[in-house]
Amino acid sequence: MLAPGSTIGILGGGQLGRMLAVAALQLGYKVVGYAPEGDNVAADACSDFVTADWDDAAALARFAEACDVVTWEFENVPLATVAALPQHLLACPPRALEVAQDRLSEKAFAIDLGGVPAPYAAVESPEELAAAILGIGTPGILKTARDGYDGKGQWRVRSGVEAGALAFPGVTCIYEGFILYETEFSVILVRGADGQVKFWDSTANLHDGGMLAQSILPAGALVEAQVSAARELARKVANALGYVGVLTLEFFATREGPVFNEMAPRVHNSGHWTIEGAATSQFENHIRAIAGLPLGGTKTRFEAIEMRNIVGADALDAHLILAEPGEPHLHLYGKREAREGRKMGHVTRVGHALK
Ligand code: AMP
Repeated sequence: MLAPGSTIGILGGGQLGRMLAVAALQLGYKVVGYAPEGDNVAADACSDFVTADWDDAAALARFAEACDVVTWEFENVPLATVAALPQHLLACPPRALEVAQDRLSEKAFAIDLGGVPAPYAAVESPEELAAAILGIGTPGILKTARDGYDGKGQWRVRSGVEAGALAFPGVTCIYEGFILYETEFSVILVRGADGQVKFWDSTANLHDGGMLAQSILPAGALVEAQVSAARELARKVANALGYVGVLTLEFFATREGPVFNEMAPRVHNSGHWTIEGAATSQFENHIRAIAGLPLGGTKTRFEAIEMRNIVGADALDAHLILAEPGEPHLHLYGKREAREGRKMGHVTRVGHALK
């Protein structure tokens, strides 16, 4: 067990790191962050923050020197960065990052464990895209295999003609058949170093332009009927990776069952509701897991919960939300610039307490 006063290192400087740091502070730890130059809002909650490129060996050594354990809040931390750290500091095997950084490898990993993804093909060129469309059909989505997030690096493809007009990105891509789903949902679990696994309830997730807009509980009958199969896959993934901490798998609930979309080896936007809505939040349980502390309960505390992201300029007058009825819980991330399409904060509203 990590003693009080120990230091947790977090790779990545965004809002997930900020909320992890708040949870770590509450448990009596210090936090040191590391990320390249940028709007590193996690730094506000860290006692020290190293701003350096991912390949800066001297800065990484300085960071490692300050830490008793290291975790990440960003799945695209280069593997070489993680490999450069003393391996005993890593709370979770880096294989989880390796698998999740590439859409092709995460799908293959899930299939091996019995998961069902959308029909897909790897595509490296316009010719291969045309062939994939012949095999899989339209509509579909072309995605870069690596580095995409929040709908970036993705293009809807309604027809072969439309695909022909696309400026093909010069990187490995994946073409996926478009899934006609009823609802999107996520399975969020925490796994301790001893292999204990706990799940939070699954929310229905509503997206806007490829980015999460809202998470809602209860998620509805179709999701509820599919959660146990989805959890089974998530548990297998976590066990196979020897995972420690919070892991998220995203699914489409279809008439034919849950279709696996992607995994995130970290706390997740669709789990922000757990701060007020669950016995223990995803952030606190992640810190507990990597610190070797007993995991907290994950039970939902209210009959109904809604988490809504605050995006772009909507953040400028977000404090007005506090005047609304129903005791909304507002979280702002302290980002300097309210750019369009940027997650600036979120608000969680809860219904009646569960007995
Ligand atoms: P992703 O980055 O893969 O999570 O994609 C972002 C969002 O785009 C998803 O949450 C869905 O709303 C939508 N999307 C991605 N892939 C598919 C698909 N194969 N079929 C239908 N919708 C998709």
